[in-house]
Amino acid sequence: MDCVFCQIVSGNIPSDILYQDEEVIAFRDINTEAPTHVLIIPKKHIASLNTLSAAELPVIGRMVSVASDLAKKEGIADRGYRLVFNCGEEGGQLVTHLHMHLIGGRKLSDALG
Ligand code: 5GP
Ligand code: ZN
Repeated sequence: MDCVFCQIVSGNIPSDILYQDEEVIAFRDINTEAPTHVLIIPKKHIASLNTLSAAELPVIGRMVSVASDLAKKEGIADRGYRLVFNCGEEGGQLVTHLHMHLIGGRKLSDALG
């Protein structure tokens, strides 16, 4: 298994885990771009939004719900934050295990890309 996020799920690679349940896990990004930078991922290996099946779609709702709770816990919910999915090469996806970035704690750039 050479997927870095699957290895975080299995515990082979240590990470700063903020939340987990049967379906999803959230941990701090190793290379933070803002005071709060958390990755929320499905525990199941799904490569990207491109390969997400209709049956797997509910996990996105779980991820958003976890992100919303963590934003409150991090104290950034009222100030605002950004949830980002990078998909594919031009979308800037480097890790091919579906993930959502929760970024906040500072004024984010107005540009989206
Ligand atoms: P992408 O560019 O694929 O959307 O984002 C992948 C993110 O995963 C990057 O922000 C990168 O810093 C983060 N990342 C890559 N490897 C690791 C790791 O081993 N541990 C943690 N915590 N984050 C990682
Ligand atoms: Zn994986």
